[in-house]
Amino acid sequence: MTSIAHDAACIFCKIIKGEIPSFKLIETQHSFSFLDIQPTAENHILIIPKYHGGKLHNIPDEFLADLLPVTKKLVKAIGCDQDGPDGPGYNILQNNGRIAHQEVDHVHFHLIPKKTKESGLIVGWPAQETDFAKLGQLHQELLAKLET
Ligand code: AMP
Ligand code: ZN
Repeated sequence: MTSIAHDAACIFCKIIKGEIPSFKLIETQHSFSFLDIQPTAENHILIIPKYHGGKLHNIPDEFLADLLPVTKKLVKAIGCDQDGPDGPGYNILQNNGRIAHQEVDHVHFHLIPKKTKESGLIVGWPAQETDFAKLGQLHQELLAKLET
């Protein structure tokens, strides 16, 4: 961790360094994964970059590029890798900021098995009516920002 950004006060940096215990799973050069100690379902896992950053946009690409392959291995290990829409599922959740339900300010991806309606992630989804005119305007504005 010496040459990589870390925060001595951060609980997840401490877990990476082994200063506090964790139920460690896969560790790579860029990523670390472990069981969530307050799981919403059995096998609720956290996958984190070995780089301290509060939000996704703070994390260098090489760390982000490692996280999803590690997550895929874990999906297989917990037996959630059935193909097709039926049967056990899973959610990948990554919260940024208090208003978005982030409690630990070191980027983490939740891997949350979804086997029953009552366990795992329960989502509120305040979908609005489709408004093509509004979407078209927004699209143009975003494309202009992406060009700059
Ligand atoms: P979030 O709300 O997205 O910031 O989620 C933080 C997650 O970290 C929660 O699900 C906690 O249960 C989990 N957590 C906090 N401290 C620890 C710890 N020491 N070991 C494992 N998981 C933890
Ligand atoms: Zn940290």
